[in-house]
Parts: sequence; C-alpha cells; structure tokens
Amino acid sequence: MPVDPLSLFVLPLMIALAALFAAAAAYDFIIFRRRKNRNKAVYRCDACRHIYTVLHRTPLARCPQCGKQNEPVRE
Ligand SMILES: [Zn+2]
Repeated sequence: MPVDPLSLFVLPLMIALAALFAAAAAYDFIIFRRRKNRNKAVYRCDACRHIYTVLHRTPLARCPQCGKQNEPVRE
C-alpha cells in the first residue's frame, strides 16, 4: 500500500495546529473568567441592605434600588 508523502506531512501538522488552537482557546477562556471574577466587586447597601455586584471595581457604586453610594464589601 503506497503512502502519500503529502498526507504524511499534512496530517500531523493539522493535528498539531488543532491541538495548539484548542490550548489557546482554553487558555483565553480561563484567563477571561479569572479577570472577570477579579474585577467584579460586591457591594451591600447601607440604607436598604440590597446586595449587588459591579463588573468594574470602583471605590463607590450606586445602589440600583435606592441610589445610595456604597463601598465594596470584599476584595
Ligand atoms: Zn440601597
């Protein structure tokens, strides 16, 4: 059975590229999730006890229920 030299070269290359792409996609996904969680801040309103999160951590964030400015609860 004759083996095509082109497929001998292309097949491992395609497998390697697919593996690299999968690894890069997984890495991006993990980093994106970590960054998202790190920047997310939890706030508890002093006035109405409403607990809410803000995607980007700021020293003060406005309560969506009563509008009072609150400090973040945890890092
Ligand atoms: Zn409030």
